[in-house]
Amino acid sequence: MLKATQNQKDKQIAVIGGGAAGFFAAISAKIHHPKASVSLFEKTSKVLAKVKVSGGGRCNVTNGNHDVNSLVDAYPRGGKQLKNIFYNFSTQDTFNWFESRGVALITEADSRVFPISNSSQTIIDCLLSETEKLGISIHYNKGVNKLYKKGEGWEISLNNTQPTISFDSVIIATGGNPKEKGFEWLKNLDHEIQSPVPSLFYIQYSQRTNYPTDGPSRRVSSIKNQRGRNPHKRTLAHNTLGI
Ligand SMILES: Cc1cc2nc3c(=O)[nH]c(=O)nc-3n(C[C@H](O)[C@H](O)[C@H](O)COP(=O)(O)OP(=O)(O)OC[C@H]3O[C@@H](n4cnc5c(N)ncnc54)[C@H](O)[C@@H]3O)c2cc1C
Repeated sequence: MLKATQNQKDKQIAVIGGGAAGFFAAISAKIHHPKASVSLFEKTSKVLAKVKVSGGGRCNVTNGNHDVNSLVDAYPRGGKQLKNIFYNFSTQDTFNWFESRGVALITEADSRVFPISNSSQTIIDCLLSETEKLGISIHYNKGVNKLYKKGEGWEISLNNTQPTISFDSVIIATGGNPKEKGFEWLKNLDHEIQSPVPSLFYIQYSQRTNYPTDGPSRRVSSIKNQRGRNPHKRTLAHNTLGI
């Protein structure tokens, strides 16, 4: 049973979304506000599902390059925002965060960093054990479908049910959405929403190739736009099935 107002002295924090961002935010909120009660709501029966498939099941946790300017340069959009984020929490901080929690990491020749186990499950286990240790409650099959301000706090409604639950702070970590419509509920909270554009995607070859399935299988490739111009010359990861 969910109780949002057990102790008036302690802040009640809700985290919406049980992906990598939601877990990291919940853990960070609890570390910075140890007295707070942190509840994480996930609309499906599974958490960290994308982490499981990330990096071909190995989970590329960060990059071995710690130079902020060259890291930011690798992103075609949002460099300015990322710069501040990297200065606040760098690739080295990510590395230290996992290693200090017992996850041994390895930096490959192309700077990608993976758990030495070569399994994304190691990362999932680490995040789950950290939430358990900190006493963060995880609520499965609880989709937040209404969120509105009430006084100094927030009210949320789960799975269209009443009554609503009160929280002092709410962190939204519901991941991406292919359509702007998916962010309508945030627009209602006066957030400005930019139309989503594809960012990271996979192109499958029509035939298998002899590139290795994983590992540092990179070749320099140029990406041309539809008019045949060449705005980016980047390194792409090729493997047996595609890029
Ligand atoms: C094939 C693939 C490989 C990748 N490989 C890597 C990699 O190696 N390294 C890397 O860093 N990144 C990788 N990525 C990207 C990375 O997986 C994502 O950037 C990251 O997982 C996004 O995390 P998130 O928490 O923001 O969103 P998500 O993982 O999408 O989590 C959002 C969660 O919120 C839940 N949710 C949504 N709406 C609600 C609601 N209203 N109420 C409650 N819950 C809700 C969803 O069910 C979901 O569980 C890869 C992605 C893909 C697809």
